[in-house]
Amino acid sequence: MEMVRLGKTEMIVSKLGFGGIPIQRVSEDEAIAVVKRCLELGITYIETANAYTNSEERIGKAIGGQREGLVLATKPHILTREGVESDLQNSLKMLGVESIDLYQFHNVSNLGTLDMVLDPDGPMAVLEEAKRAGKVKHIGASSHQIDVAKEAVKSGRFETIMFPFNFIACEAADELVPLAREHDVGFIAMKPLHGGVLRNVTIAIKYLLQFPNVVVLVGIEKISEIEEIIRVVEGPWQMTEAEQSEMERLRAELDSTICRRCDYCLPCPEGIPISLVMDFNCYTKSMPSENIFSGHFAEGLAKAAECTKCGDCDERCPYHLPVQEMIAEYVDRYETLKKKYQEQAI
Ligand code: SF4
Ligand code: SF4
Repeated sequence: MEMVRLGKTEMIVSKLGFGGIPIQRVSEDEAIAVVKRCLELGITYIETANAYTNSEERIGKAIGGQREGLVLATKPHILTREGVESDLQNSLKMLGVESIDLYQFHNVSNLGTLDMVLDPDGPMAVLEEAKRAGKVKHIGASSHQIDVAKEAVKSGRFETIMFPFNFIACEAADELVPLAREHDVGFIAMKPLHGGVLRNVTIAIKYLLQFPNVVVLVGIEKISEIEEIIRVVEGPWQMTEAEQSEMERLRAELDSTICRRCDYCLPCPEGIPISLVMDFNCYTKSMPSENIFSGHFAEGLAKAAECTKCGDCDERCPYHLPVQEMIAEYVDRYETLKKKYQEQAI
């Protein structure tokens, strides 16, 4: 496994990282087996979040306190002083460790939130104190908005940046990846398979392997998935001509169906969280039922049912996605899924 220096953190991690969202959906034994297999295969970067229900706890059980050579990364759920304080304590407990290697502000969604995070009395101050106390070794951020991610990198306050990056959602390639390199900020590519939408694993992974300073973070649910990806990572990285043309074909086919969660379509007059709803395929594939049928996703879908089809979002989406049509489709599919779930629960 190739190793990558994670920017100014000076931590050296495996090129391929393990993303802990999907292990919420399987049994605890299966989740532990998946994490252990990833470690055997040479993965040393393990990523999760406090919001991913049992993911931290399962990772903690899988590593059993044996963290030498591993980089454990997690994130708080709530980006306030109090939220960060309590989520950090919770993460330490769930992971069964006394310190976290990389603690990242989760989904910094706009410049206002970035300012709030960096306020001298804000949540960054809490984490910097936690760093001095040895509970956190490095501080990073994740975002889906390219302008926010760029500002975060330029601020000099974050040691890593996590951003969606794959051969379709590839905005990061032009500016963000070079900017991160210039500022010596570690770059972690999330959604390399766009939450399971990109089925050609070989092409998706090979595309990202060409960026030397990028850690490729893949959400893994099954041992067979990581074994397939490892074969690509350990094989020749260059795309063949056939793979190159297949990538171009897929780009043409999927480009106007994939939401980048950039939020340029907002505001919606009905207050619909459009990018959350547009993440439907990824969310319903990777999250456990309790997160799909209750909480903020369920609330977002209930709001989406109130869409008046005003068309504002269609006009604003720079990727020309048929947003209102897609929202209507997801609302229908959600109702069908919910019915099935309720029938099973009876
Ligand atoms: S629908 Fe379009 S504008 Fe809205 S978040 Fe998705 S890609 Fe961005
Ligand atoms: S079409 Fe629906 S989702 Fe789009 S802006 Fe109008 S109300 Fe909101």
